[in-house]
Amino acid sequence: MEQLQGFDVGTLSLEHRMAYLQGVCSSMPIQNSDQQRVLVEVVRLMGDVVDAVTDLKQRMDQLEQYVDDMDDDLANLEEAVFDGLNDEDLDEKAPDGHSMLVSFADVPCPHCGLHFFVDEDFWAAQDVVDVDCPNCHESVEVSKSGLNPSH
Ligand SMILES: [Zn+2]
Repeated sequence: MEQLQGFDVGTLSLEHRMAYLQGVCSSMPIQNSDQQRVLVEVVRLMGDVVDAVTDLKQRMDQLEQYVDDMDDDLANLEEAVFDGLNDEDLDEKAPDGHSMLVSFADVPCPHCGLHFFVDEDFWAAQDVVDVDCPNCHESVEVSKSGLNPSH
């Protein structure tokens, strides 16, 4: 950034640079020329743009702060809920007899090719079940034996 009146305006904030430019512009001798009218309008427009950008930046800073706070809250919540529990605790059977760790099996749809996940509890009682593909909604036959369970 070039030197103007002995200081480097490039180191200043957008608002200060804009105020400086507006000051320079308003101290120009009035010539009533088309060029000056255009220049004045451009400076005015830039002032509005700088205001809008400054406002957006403030909102973004607030949003970032909000997300940071939520992240902290979530970490605290996780600690409060899961502190002291390990995977084996989580794998203990819930009162209804189901594992609290849910296993899912990767199922490829023969109609559209989509791979989707099916809760293994779904066919705990039977070997073969029909599941609707979430993509093409065709019925897909899923058998317990032909699957590679994954967590
Ligand atoms: Zn499908």
